[in-house]
Amino acid sequence: MYHITLIPGDGIGPEVAEATKAVIEASGAKIQWETVNAGLDVLETTGTLVPDGVFDSLEKTRIALKGPITTPIGSGFRSINVMLRKKYDLFSNTRPVKTIPGIDVPFQNVDLIIFRENTEDLYIGEERMLHDNAAEGIKRITKEGSFRIIKAAFNYANQNNKSKVTVVHKANIMKLTDGLFLQCAREVAKDYPHIQLQEVIVDNMCMQLVMNPSQFQVIVTTNLYGDILSDLCAGLVGGLGIVPGANIGENMAIFEAVHGSAPDIAGKNLANPIAMILTGAMMLNYLGESIKSRSIYQAVEATVIQGKFITKDLGGSASTKDMTNAIIENIQL
Ligand code: NAD
Repeated sequence: MYHITLIPGDGIGPEVAEATKAVIEASGAKIQWETVNAGLDVLETTGTLVPDGVFDSLEKTRIALKGPITTPIGSGFRSINVMLRKKYDLFSNTRPVKTIPGIDVPFQNVDLIIFRENTEDLYIGEERMLHDNAAEGIKRITKEGSFRIIKAAFNYANQNNKSKVTVVHKANIMKLTDGLFLQCAREVAKDYPHIQLQEVIVDNMCMQLVMNPSQFQVIVTTNLYGDILSDLCAGLVGGLGIVPGANIGENMAIFEAVHGSAPDIAGKNLANPIAMILTGAMMLNYLGESIKSRSIYQAVEATVIQGKFITKDLGGSASTKDMTNAIIENIQL
């Protein structure tokens, strides 16, 4: 029996979290969920954005499945997602992007993984107004922060027989910050002579990804570029409804899909649950439950190939619940 913190989040979060719980249960994994929540809805009922119970539970279980949490744009409170990643030093944001057969997209053989640095860069939130008409923000990159995410990417490549790691940067312009990240990549690469280090400037990377994504295997980059490239890559394989993710640190892991709270479809039983369900499968794999994890992946693939119960974003008309039930039906124990 695993003890796992469940943070449903807001927007579509509770719907896809419910779906994921049901699929994980159907896989036979024995999980005792500790459900806590954070965000705007919680603020309204408890008077605090992140109740202490969230931190207490995370510090006890050290592993969580988390739905998206809305962040107000331009003003208002800072991102709870970013705060949790920083507080618990979850430095590696790992996002596998893989074609699911049966989804109608221009490329059928995308199979890449993004390692996004998760604690530094412009996301440290050190911004200030210089005067009424000018603002500035700090972009902080450290050697320590860069080394560990780049090592994580090379380790993954090494363990999974990948021949190339692509480091994405803008060191031609940001010579000190992105220059340092690039220099760290060159240093780490020396320890992996059998793995090619490919260096690509971020603007070119966007073009390369939409022209020929299957040339990439493992991508490692800084926080902001990683955030943007993740959504771009999601678009290559069918959208945000299908791409899972994980925030991993030395002592804690929080699993969450790439997508946000999707306020445009929240509460309507329209959200595609696959991204969160595959995030749950990633979590099972992390726990060592690789057979159950694989059975969930296979059930998702079978459901998409059957094409009967797929959500609107993938061209179907099924609800979140219909698709979830179809995935559960397809689980082979
Ligand atoms: P979003 O990912 O919520 O939505 C972008 C588009 O993708 C929308 O059209 C949405 O309907 C669609 N989409 C997303 N997930 C889907 C799913 N599972 N099924 C079907 N369609 C899906 O991005 P946004 O609109 O830029 O952000 C909305 C809010 O989410 C913002 O407050 C943002 O800060 C927050 N956000 C949170 C996280 C997180 O909690 N980790 C991540 C990203 C964005």
